[in-house]
Amino acid sequence: MAKIAVLERKCTGCGLCAANCPFGAIDMPNGKPELNAACKVCGICVKTCPEKAIIKLETKQDSVDKSQWKDILVFAEVSGGRLHPVSLELIGKARELGTPIGFKVKAVLVGKDVQPFAEELRHYGVSEIAVYDDPELSYFRADAYAACVEDYIQAARPSVVLVGATSLGRSLAPRLATRFHTGLTADCTTLELRENTDLVQIRPAFGGNIMAQIITTRTRPQFATVRYKVMNTPVRDDAATGEIAQKKIPKAVFDSKVSCVSVTPIPPKKSISDAEILVVGGRGLQKEADLEMVKELARLLGGDWAVSRPLVEKGWATNDRQIGLSGRTVRPRLIITCGVSGAIQFTACMNGSDHIVSINTDPDAPIFQVAHVAIVGDLYEIVPALIQKLKEAQP
Ligand SMILES: Cc1cc2nc3c(=O)[nH]c(=O)nc-3n(C[C@H](O)[C@H](O)[C@H](O)COP(=O)(O)OP(=O)(O)OC[C@H]3O[C@@H](n4cnc5c(N)ncnc54)[C@H](O)[C@@H]3O)c2cc1C
Repeated sequence: MAKIAVLERKCTGCGLCAANCPFGAIDMPNGKPELNAACKVCGICVKTCPEKAIIKLETKQDSVDKSQWKDILVFAEVSGGRLHPVSLELIGKARELGTPIGFKVKAVLVGKDVQPFAEELRHYGVSEIAVYDDPELSYFRADAYAACVEDYIQAARPSVVLVGATSLGRSLAPRLATRFHTGLTADCTTLELRENTDLVQIRPAFGGNIMAQIITTRTRPQFATVRYKVMNTPVRDDAATGEIAQKKIPKAVFDSKVSCVSVTPIPPKKSISDAEILVVGGRGLQKEADLEMVKELARLLGGDWAVSRPLVEKGWATNDRQIGLSGRTVRPRLIITCGVSGAIQFTACMNGSDHIVSINTDPDAPIFQVAHVAIVGDLYEIVPALIQKLKEAQP
């Protein structure tokens, strides 16, 4: 950890530091600089000060003994009475990461009547499945669930903990990371594990303009969340392996400050993330009515339709139809993009699709870098022609 300090005896109160601070983090209450909570320790004030009256202090932190933390733990999420499929994707990824360095994959299940899900996980190559099963855990309460997973982490000491970037996971993972005073990287798109057990957590940063590699070098465990459909679903083994361990419910669960008064289930909604075939409209569409072509092509192909962000901004579609960093991640068997340029914020969330067909008038459009089939042309000619062909092919 670093912090900024002002050497009062050297400071002349010139105010250059406050004027140059990009975060407005320096106040001059008595004519002398005082740092407020907005300080990001960027060090610009250190460079700006003509008197060298501002310094950056580095405090040395001890590292944990990494050899004491091994294996990969996956939080297997059960919500609404089903095992969230992202849990299986994470188990598959964990196996891929762990095998080269001899790490086992473990899972932790929390909830009420979750035993059948533990049995199912035995078909995915998990060495141990820890089960916290109690009526008190019927519904997600962040403090109670965190107490259970914390209990298991304390005992199992995993090097890496993977959590699905679902609503539940996004609430649980930061609580756990805070309890262990360790790092958490949200919405990772790629994960790699170094031989020294450091997890390289790769995700778009700064609005998707760079791919950041984030490493938790000094602390353990290393927490990462990954969205649904970012990783592949592993193949289910016929053979069931792995031990199921019933765990004692920690006292903190019964002391929870949160009580569930009532639950109103939201009717299950079809998500574009689950579609096998998707037709996507982008800003190449000139008016809202033209989106009907996209919908019709999707219908004829037996698929669903989606959009890029500008169309949501125009109010032509709701956010649950948007592909991208601020929308959904998709991985269909076939995706046809119509008038989408292929900004990284879009492609990062669809480039795992099996077959990508892109229609764009611009031969240099970045979407063609990820497309398997590039159609350089006018969507107003190509989409109606495809619709016509499909109609003709119908019995
Ligand atoms: C933090 C952040 C998050 C973001 N999140 C998302 C996100 O989740 N999803 C998302 O989509 N964007 C997101 N964006 C916006 C993103 O950067 C792009 O602006 C956006 O994806 C562009 O959408 P588009 O490709 O539809 O439009 P444009 O970039 O305008 O591209 C339109 C394309 O249509 C082509 N075209 C025009 N007419 C025709 C025609 N007749 N036939 C065929 N092709 C034609 C053009 O050649 C052009 O390539 C985000 C940006 C930021 C900063």
